[in-house]
Parts: sequence; C-alpha cells; structure tokens
Amino acid sequence: MKHVPVSGTMVTVLGAAKSGSAVARLLSAHGARVLLSEVRVLPPERQAALLAMGIALETGGHTHRALQADFMVLSPGVPADSPLPRAAAAQGIPCYSELEVASWFCQGTMVAITGSNGKTTTTTLIGHIFAQAGCKTVVAGNIGTPLSAYADSTGPDTMIVVEVSSFQLDHIDTLRPRVSVLLNITPDHLDRYGGDFGRYAQSKLRIYMNQTGSDDVLVYNYDDTFIRGHAVRLTDTRGVRTIPFSCCEALSEGASLSDGTVLLRSGHGTESIIPTDELALRGPHNVQNSMAAAIVARVMEVELNSLRQSLSAFEGVAHRLEVVREVDGVRYVNDSKATNVNAVWYALQSFSAPLVLLAGGRDKGNDYEVLKPLLPDRVHTLIAFGESADSVVQELGPHTGAVFKVDTLEEATMQARSCAFPGDVVLLSPGCASFDLFENYEHRGDTFKALVNSF
Ligand code: ADP
Repeated sequence: MKHVPVSGTMVTVLGAAKSGSAVARLLSAHGARVLLSEVRVLPPERQAALLAMGIALETGGHTHRALQADFMVLSPGVPADSPLPRAAAAQGIPCYSELEVASWFCQGTMVAITGSNGKTTTTTLIGHIFAQAGCKTVVAGNIGTPLSAYADSTGPDTMIVVEVSSFQLDHIDTLRPRVSVLLNITPDHLDRYGGDFGRYAQSKLRIYMNQTGSDDVLVYNYDDTFIRGHAVRLTDTRGVRTIPFSCCEALSEGASLSDGTVLLRSGHGTESIIPTDELALRGPHNVQNSMAAAIVARVMEVELNSLRQSLSAFEGVAHRLEVVREVDGVRYVNDSKATNVNAVWYALQSFSAPLVLLAGGRDKGNDYEVLKPLLPDRVHTLIAFGESADSVVQELGPHTGAVFKVDTLEEATMQARSCAFPGDVVLLSPGCASFDLFENYEHRGDTFKALVNSF
C-alpha cells in the first residue's frame, strides 16, 4: 500500500458504473465511509447490493452531501470540469481517479499501457505473454475489469498489466508503474479536452510522472516525434530507463526491424525476436504493438522462446481487425473498435486485397485528410452509414470508386455483399463512435458479425 490508510476517512465516489462501484467496494472493505453518488437512477437490486456492503448511496443526481468528503474519486466517465469535481477542487478536496486509488492497495509489479490506439490489443498481448510464461497475471483497467476489483487479490509476485486511458491519468497522484508503455498520441477524445490536443497529449504523458531511477522503464514509440522528445528528456532529467521501438529506423537500443525481423537490442545483447510474418497479429500497427510487448517481456525476463511462442500464437482481440468469415470468396473483417481516423488508416494499410470499406457513425470532429491518399489504390467501394454518412461521402467519396450512402449498418452490410468480388475484403472500420445507432462499439461489431453470419 503506497498511501495513507483510508480507514475512517469519508470518501465520495462519483459515478456508479463498473469502476465507481468497484472502488467504492474496495474502499469500504478497507474501512472508509463511502458515499457513492450517481446522476442516473440505479435498479433496486444494484442499490440493495451496494447498501448491503455498507456503501451509502445517492442516485438520480448529486447533492451537497457529496462535498462532505476527505477525498473524492472520479469514475473515468465523469469529466473533470463538471460541476462537482470543480466544486471539490474549489474547497480543496483532493480528487483521484479509480486507478490511482486501486494502486494504493496493489502489490506486485505494474505494467501500465497507454496511447490513443492499440491499448487493448497490447495490454491483452502482454497479459498473454506473462500468463504463458507462468507468471501470476492480472489484466485490468480500461480494458474491462477495473483494477479495484483485483487489488486485494494481488501479491508480491503478481504481474499487474493495466490499460490506462487519458481520463484515468488526469487524476493520478502517486501511481508509479514499474514499466509504462506509450504507444502513440494522435487526436482522439478532444471533446473532453476542450478541443485542445496539447491538453489531451499531456494527460497521456502523466503515465510516467512518478517514475524515477533506472529500475523504472518507459517503453515508447520512437516514430512518434512528440513522444520521442519527451522520452529523451525523461532519461536526462530523472534517469528513467527509456526503451524505444521503431518500424522506421534501426536503433542502437530497443526494438527495430531488420530484413523483416524484429530485433531487440538491450541488456541481453542483440536478439532476433521473430520475423514479422510469423506474428499472430497482422498489419503495421500490430508490429508496433508486438514490439512494445516484446520489450516489456524481456525487461521482465520472460524467456525468449516463450515470448516467441506467445507472439506467434496470440489469438487477437474481438472487434480489432477480427476476421468474421469468408463467404463466396469474400473475407468480412470487423474493426468496429476503429473509432477514430488513425485506426482506419492502419486498417487500410493491413490488407493487400481490394477493399469495400464501411465507415460512418458519430463524428468526433474527424479530419479525414490522412485517409485520402490511401483510398484510390485500396478501396474500390465506399459505403457510408449512420449519422456522419453525408460528411464521409463528401470527404472520402471523391477519392474512391463506387460510393453508396445508406442509413443503417444492416443496409451497409447488404450493399457490401452485393458489390464485393471474390478475393475482396469487406472491412467495417467506421472511424467514428458508435453511439448514433448502437450502445457501444461491441454492439456495433456484434451486429455486423450476426449479419455476416446470417448470409
Ligand atoms: P484502444 O484500446 O487504444 O482503443 P485497440 O487495441 O482497442 O486500442 O484498437 C483500436 C483500434 O485501433 C482498432 O481498430 C485497431 O485495429 C487499431 N490499432 C491497434 N493498434 C494500433 C496502433 N498501434 N496504432 C494505430 N491503430 C491501432
């Protein structure tokens, strides 16, 4: 435990979804007096379960009671500039993220992964590598199960692999991963940062703010010039060991490519890790993710053969370039998690087959410029659907062959079926959020898969 004891303290947790409920339970189990405050009304059985754990509740809105606290915990869904966190800050009440609080109760070695894209893939891959190597492993955070739910089950030998979002980093205080991973920083979620890329990027950099000394390691993307500049400064100022990976340059330390093989130069000398065509995950972005995972594994002394085996046998994660099935010689690929333009850019780079692209949904202020040069050679048919269909057609339509605009994903999928040729890939890579037509990206991806499986 890294922090002051919480027993007897008064704590308000804002937001009663997964993270908020889990941290409320954790704090209550450690003797804090917890108020869980939620704007929505919770179903009676959820309320009863929380009350039975000794957690006080206010639902259907926040009241002044929420400000009677020694500290406040923000769920990732609660914006830091919403009224209650602002009022708390004005009264000098510290605000922490769920991840920060969970980390106070964790033992073991923490590897924390952040970036705009690739977090879930890389987190899952690193978890897989450790588990295959026989380590006691916990995979938690933004990926699904909040770290608070596992904190008390960790021990000194647990490898704690955490996916971290920028929102969770906004309110950390003492969180100090042994290894942090910075995959990339490209525009996303700017709606939560007042349209300010600088603020969003600074949030991501907080992942290493408490790292210090050569036992701590930052694994970073050398090809991302913004990240590279900061990483170099980190070594200079705090002595943290920074290990880069690059798909573009040969590096004297870290992971890079040589003749289509991932090489790692580190304290272990120069190691040939694996040819890229033996990696289980396809596409240039996944070479980066695999490099990052390989560095983490070797830093933590995972044996080379075990690492190779894991990198080549990893099954991937649903909704990320997930092959659904092949019908009439056409491969259908579900990349519903591509909720921003950068992810679509990598998806388009991942196939040599001609593409039918299904794109659209809720626009998050998308700038489609980077996709335009890729389309003419790769995409023969564009099918735009959902709320942003008009702007997708307007922006991308002139750069591709056939263009269709439809309302729903069902129509888009049927249209794709009728215009795909054998040898094509039909790619759902929307580049937009899903909330116009679906509950979330999983719902969108599952809908697509069900449609394709019903052919
Ligand atoms: P995150 O958890 O950061 O959202 P995911 O692993 O869920 O990342 O992948 C989200 C989307 O980004 C998918 O479409 C995936 O194919 C793509 N992607 C995965 N890794 C990267 C990467 N390193 N760079 C760019 N895009 C990526």
